[in-house]
Amino acid sequence: MTIDQIEAKVRSLMPRVVADLEELVAIPSIAFPGYPEEPVHRMAERTLELIRDAGIVDAHLAEVPHGYPPIYGELKGPEGSPTVVLYAHYDVQPAHASQGWTTDPWTPTTKEDGRIYGRGAADDKSGLVSLIATLRAFDGKPPCTVRIIVEGMEETESNLEEFVEAHPELFQCDMFVIADMGNLRVGEPVLTTALRGDVSCTVTVRTIDHPLHSGVYGGPTPDAMMALARLLSSLVDEAGDVAIEGVTGGPWEGEDMTEEDFLAGAELLPGVSLLGTGSIGDRLWAKPSINAIGIDTTSIADSSNVILPAASAKISMRIVPGSNPEAELDALVTHLETHAPWGAQVEVQRIKAAPPFLAATDGPGYAAAREAMTEAFGTAAGESGSGGSIPLLQTLHSVAPQAEFALWGPEDTALSRIHASDESVDPAEIERMIVAQALLLEKLAARASS
Ligand SMILES: [Zn+2]
Repeated sequence: MTIDQIEAKVRSLMPRVVADLEELVAIPSIAFPGYPEEPVHRMAERTLELIRDAGIVDAHLAEVPHGYPPIYGELKGPEGSPTVVLYAHYDVQPAHASQGWTTDPWTPTTKEDGRIYGRGAADDKSGLVSLIATLRAFDGKPPCTVRIIVEGMEETESNLEEFVEAHPELFQCDMFVIADMGNLRVGEPVLTTALRGDVSCTVTVRTIDHPLHSGVYGGPTPDAMMALARLLSSLVDEAGDVAIEGVTGGPWEGEDMTEEDFLAGAELLPGVSLLGTGSIGDRLWAKPSINAIGIDTTSIADSSNVILPAASAKISMRIVPGSNPEAELDALVTHLETHAPWGAQVEVQRIKAAPPFLAATDGPGYAAAREAMTEAFGTAAGESGSGGSIPLLQTLHSVAPQAEFALWGPEDTALSRIHASDESVDPAEIERMIVAQALLLEKLAARASS
């Protein structure tokens, strides 16, 4: 199909695409423990029906040892055509009322700005319907062999890495299309090429053997909570940059994000300043960042006039593309073990070292993906990073080391508010992504046969 034919076909599919998206957003497919299981199973079944209806008739719920099943299927292309694996996920984040939703998260609502609001409208049900519509665009006869994998536990303890490792043959391909990303702004195409990794640990600080009366002993006696606070504050410098010796960081060379777009999503409180130095792109995608994400000590309700003997915090550090997660975690642990004030005792427990990801940008598949984005959007495609971590990508790379990656989707960073209240997606962005995906399949097939 030519681009004109693809665009016309996709335009005719859009009412169906929007209807599918609205139907799926209305299903609260939260795979987190403690949430009802029925909607997640209903979501899996309905997604399966849509995929079969779009032409992958052998699609099925895959067997997994635990958790909600991924959906897998294959549709053969012409003899000798390349193989593409399409990825999206059908589970979503919870949507607590306390997040401040202005419409019901499970009632898809189109507002005056033309965007569709609801939990999962962007992340990742928009990516999911874009893949299904890409199959529909070819009326069941894609120019490449298409394999689809739709995960059911991406937002929680994913079971897909194990599945991939147990069935590497299902993931052999020339290119992975990961439809769980997006442009920085609507209408301005980018491919995501770099994702940060994530390391974490807990640190416990102890100063005394047991609680002491703060009147009788306070003054000379070091307090574990205050010692922990000082230790935590040593993790960043005055400007807010990570101050840990030996961690990796550098400049970002792709498209940058404006401070304005960043703040539109982040909504800092009045008077609160941004942290760190360098461009927003540097700080999000090329330098590490660190946060204390939990704390255990005596609660305010249980507090009395005693000096606390122990306090613990969980620390999460995002690490930059290209860095070694174990080495980065080592640097964090060493810092914590050597920077506590007052000789306080420190115990660190390592929790996680999830690898970052750097997509190869020098292969023919990536070039085809970039061309497809440029043509579908009518403006040159750039490269962006993603602050989030997807350890699955590294697993896919390890089972199919020759395969290239296209990381993209309809979730724009400026307005989609994924994981937050009033998540939304622009249907025109979904339409352009379907065109880009269909063009990519055409281009990969054309390259292989030439
Ligand atoms: Zn997602």
